[in-house]
Amino acid sequence: MRQPLVVGNWKMNGSAATNQHLLADLLAGCSSLTRCRMGVCPPFVYLAAIQAQLQGSPIVWGAQNASQHAPGAYTGEISASMLQDFGCTYVIVGHSERRTLYLENDGIVAEKFAAVQAAGLTPILCVGESLEQREAGVTEQVVGQQLDAILNTQGVEVFDNCVIAYEPVWAIGTGKTATPEQAQAVHAFIRRQLAEKNQPLSEKIQILYGGSVKGSNANELFSMPDIDGGLIGGASLKAEEFLTICRAS
Ligand code: PGA
Repeated sequence: MRQPLVVGNWKMNGSAATNQHLLADLLAGCSSLTRCRMGVCPPFVYLAAIQAQLQGSPIVWGAQNASQHAPGAYTGEISASMLQDFGCTYVIVGHSERRTLYLENDGIVAEKFAAVQAAGLTPILCVGESLEQREAGVTEQVVGQQLDAILNTQGVEVFDNCVIAYEPVWAIGTGKTATPEQAQAVHAFIRRQLAEKNQPLSEKIQILYGGSVKGSNANELFSMPDIDGGLIGGASLKAEEFLTICRAS
């Protein structure tokens, strides 16, 4: 039985004041969650404040990115070991905005994945196809390649400490959600890819759906057998909506 997980990806949003409010509301509401684990990934600069506010609570936190490099001469970068200093549990790697806006290819994503695990943290590996790729019928090929970039270089065992997020690029921030059936099909494909190499691990790994999840569509998505929760962008910035999504999982 996989524990449901719902993680908020705040992206480049919030301020010290709005974060504090949002977390106070989440802390007040999270006691009613019976099964779901709730997490938030704020911008780096707020991690210390978030750690202070959430320490000892059931809510976990993480970062949205990390450098693939060990500490050194990389101006503007943040290493995974630094994130460990702030009590992070998760680090999102390979989000489609990083892949497209910051040109992170599968090789870089694989290096980041390894760096995050080396620091003792859990990567949330994002995979997903563009609209053109879906319309061309190559969704499984694209997602398969994104998984292979790690499987072929690091082996299947590294997926033992990892969460996968399937996020169709065309559904991110667009208000266009994949249907539960569309999402389920890709989630099942991902699990099959892992099962070919390690069946028990494939049954254990949490696979989240992301892309315009809202309070109103979370229930039907999370009722699918291979969808174990969500990676939530816009809707994670509103406490009541985020709590509704967590309750649905
Ligand atoms: P969205 O973003 O929920 O705003 O579509 C999801 C994500 O980018 O992780």
